[in-house]
Amino acid sequence: MKCANCGEEILQKNPQKCPYCGSTDLLSMKDIIPTVVSEIDTLKKAGKFEEAALKYEELEMYDKAEECRNLNMGKVSAISMKCPHCGATQPFSSKNDAVKCKRCGKNYGIPKKVLDLL
Ligand SMILES: [Zn+2]
Ligand SMILES: [Zn+2]
Repeated sequence: MKCANCGEEILQKNPQKCPYCGSTDLLSMKDIIPTVVSEIDTLKKAGKFEEAALKYEELEMYDKAEECRNLNMGKVSAISMKCPHCGATQPFSSKNDAVKCKRCGKNYGIPKKVLDLL
């Protein structure tokens, strides 16, 4: 539940008015979902899957958030790095500049020019 006037999140169930500003113009989750879902679609089209996933989490739609993150993985899984310690190749999908090798467990850095491809 959210106040349409001041935008504060109202935690009590079925409030008659906003405890912060006294406004009776309240938005229920049901009312804001279509707005947020259209925002999410825009983010997804722009390739901002992580941001879209966070919005899904705000709506407590965790399965959708998960789906979004999987899309994100799919997008960047083409980028893989060879471990300098054991030579195993593994894809990475985060913007972290270091990854942990799945085979030998050692950490290695990702060159900035590779990160820029993400
Ligand atoms: Zn308010
Ligand atoms: Zn390794």
